[in-house]
Amino acid sequence: MKKFYVIGHPVAHSLSPKIHAMFAAQCGEEIDYQSIDFEPGCFIDSLGRLRREQNPYGANVTVPFKRDAADYCTELTERARVAGAVNTITFSGNQVFGDNTDGAGFVHDVCARCGFDFVGKRVLMLGAGGAARGVIAAIRPLGCARITVANRTESRAVSLAEEMGIHAAAFTDLGRGYDIVINATSAGLSGAAPAVPNTIFSDAQLAYDLVYAQYSTPFMRLARESGCPRVEDGLGMLIEQAAESFKVWLGVAPDTAPVYMALRAAAEKA
Ligand code: NAP
Repeated sequence: MKKFYVIGHPVAHSLSPKIHAMFAAQCGEEIDYQSIDFEPGCFIDSLGRLRREQNPYGANVTVPFKRDAADYCTELTERARVAGAVNTITFSGNQVFGDNTDGAGFVHDVCARCGFDFVGKRVLMLGAGGAARGVIAAIRPLGCARITVANRTESRAVSLAEEMGIHAAAFTDLGRGYDIVINATSAGLSGAAPAVPNTIFSDAQLAYDLVYAQYSTPFMRLARESGCPRVEDGLGMLIEQAAESFKVWLGVAPDTAPVYMALRAAAEKA
């Protein structure tokens, strides 16, 4: 049976094993998919040991190891190279192929499930880490009127904007004028929304937090309280990026809609 892992720290809470088990059952594939926690700073040694002992077919990589994974791989897809981060690894002998399915997962969820069309839209991206890079690379070709990136550490937003040919702004200079506001910061992990003015939501049709949490995140609460008509968390993106990884590994595209409905219902019941 092909073995897969999701590698992170912490990772025990990850929904990925459940999502991939649902995909496998739906597609008639037999896979063994488990989560594994690596100590920060030991990614290369831990992955070497896992490969020797378990001979995995593939792995998903999550916070905080996506950049380590990109350095580890012997070959990267274009979207992983642009993102500078890998969330999907395929092992083949001595070769290690790295891909990044986050951007495709985000676009699929926002366009297909949320019904948002990026053509002519003004996009505000909060955050300049690996997830922001992957998402910007995926939405750049979709005909947006303008993409602006803002980050707590302003210099990272400026260099990302230069690299990707988009605009940069400081958190404190932000105001109205965005159709969609995307939160790709991990600020919520410390229980707060990023320190941005609530006028960023004045013209927004959609506020989307990449983070999935059982309850509304601080960013989602701020968007709602500021009058944003539609507010979404990252559950849909999580399922879509997993479906894209599943397709990379096994060549089959699972139907994500029933998985989304089941996991959303389970979260509401909990
Ligand atoms: P990352 O590379 O570590 O980047 C973290 C980003 O958050 C940086 O821009 C950082 O700003 C910013 N940040 C951290 N704490 C902050 C705070 N208190 N206030 C404002 N900004 C803060 O992480 P990543 O891989 O990009 O992931 C970002 C988030 O997206 C994570 O929470 C992750 O779980 C989520 N995500 C979800 C999915 C999904 O499928 N739903 C997929 C990928 C990622 P500085 O540069 O100033 O440090």
